[in-house]
Amino acid sequence: MALNFYNTASRKREPFTTQDGSNLVRMYCCGPTVYHFAHIGNLRTYIFEDFLVRTLKYYGYEVNHIVNITDVGHLTSDADSGDDKMEKGAAREGKTVWEIADFYKDAFMADWHRLNIQEPTRWTRATDHIKEQIELVKTLEEKGFTYRTSDGIYFDSLKFPRYADFARLDVENLRSGSRIDMGEKRAATDFALWKFSPTDKKRAMEWDSPWGIGFPGWHIECSAMAMKYNGPTLDIHCGGTDHIRVHHTNEIAQSECATGKPFARFWMHGEFLRTASEEKLEDGTTEQKFGKMSKSSGEFLTVSLLVDRGFNPLDYRYFALGSHYRNYLNFTWEALEGAREANKSLHKKTDALIGKATAITSEKALKFQTDFKDAIGDDLNMPRALGILNTMLKSDIDDGEKAALVLDMDKIFGLKLDEPREDFAKKQDGVDVAKIESLIAERKAARDSKNWAESDRIRDELAAMNVVIKDSKEGTTWSLK
Ligand code: AMP
Ligand code: ZN
Repeated sequence: MALNFYNTASRKREPFTTQDGSNLVRMYCCGPTVYHFAHIGNLRTYIFEDFLVRTLKYYGYEVNHIVNITDVGHLTSDADSGDDKMEKGAAREGKTVWEIADFYKDAFMADWHRLNIQEPTRWTRATDHIKEQIELVKTLEEKGFTYRTSDGIYFDSLKFPRYADFARLDVENLRSGSRIDMGEKRAATDFALWKFSPTDKKRAMEWDSPWGIGFPGWHIECSAMAMKYNGPTLDIHCGGTDHIRVHHTNEIAQSECATGKPFARFWMHGEFLRTASEEKLEDGTTEQKFGKMSKSSGEFLTVSLLVDRGFNPLDYRYFALGSHYRNYLNFTWEALEGAREANKSLHKKTDALIGKATAITSEKALKFQTDFKDAIGDDLNMPRALGILNTMLKSDIDDGEKAALVLDMDKIFGLKLDEPREDFAKKQDGVDVAKIESLIAERKAARDSKNWAESDRIRDELAAMNVVIKDSKEGTTWSLK
């Protein structure tokens, strides 16, 4: 049973091996910029990476899994210009950039755990690694890959002839285009390694460096931290597909020029979660179009919002399981409801089995296990793996083996099939609708039995929840104050 992954670098599926043939996988995943909540699109990428880590472990590997927290404000555009994201977040909320970073880092980690994503070996914060980033820029400078402009130190991409290879970029076209805001850059594909603080304004985050006070460019942190904790060559580097063209291309350029070694052997990218928006057509009708969920446009959905709408975060995890990570996943509430029902019904079946687990010995049960291992090893084919779980549950193997297989497969799915699924009550504007409705039913029972004291007590309890009730011939209705 070979483990095969699609490698963005070669655009091919390749058998996975580690660089030294050992069972240690050196892995780095680009993490969030903590200036806002993560949306469920970002989290789809981390769920895919979690399936990857779990699959590697299932195949007997140990994973040195590093995830960064970008708490330095890079600039809002890929072209090293625009506003600083962290400073924008701070201005929006009247807090300091450090408070914003801490708050959204904690919120991100809470979402991570609610989705049952395994803790990485190490979280690395960019602001804790400024020294390493400066060192890397110094190395690039010593080796002649940089130049200085009035606003920073830039990477000279013309000195790295393979620059265009990874993303299959048409650099001729890109470099000749005057559409790109070049500033003093020599080539459109050059990028900032270190930016100088403006002379007329103190930045909220800035550090001393051999080139003066400033802050790192947005790609350098990943190279510096990936190499600090995993050495010059990673076995696997992950992220979303949006990072291929600029961020990962630049990570490769600066890392390989600094070390002279390949930066990552396998590059794996998760495809987007998309949401629908209505587009007006010329004839006045509207059409539903799906586009990337992003922090700056379209519907922005968070795990907390799903919980308020009565979804268990693991229903979203189940939803993510239903499509291959390299395909777009289109989000609709109906589709998420479908995933919730499927997750509920799966739990109903597995709840009755858990506790009965025995050894897996029959030929049929062992075949399910090998088919499952093949599916996950086949570039993380989770939809097929889920299908095998369902077929296995319907099969005639005995309950003890079924239970053992459920537990085994859930090492990958991470749906917590060893415990009953928690039902999350639907909330409206942060209010627990099921609780309100049950209190109203209790009050009706109290009134029917003329227990006025109890009925008043319940009315007060509802009032304390900001719920106003109105009795009429048709029954009781409620609204929020
Ligand atoms: P960011 O905080 O914007 O750097 O994004 C964090 C991670 O989420 C990156 O790996 C992105 O590639 C990924 N990402 C951003 N938007 C989406 C989306 N709509 N669907 C899936 N992944 C996404
Ligand atoms: Zn990165």
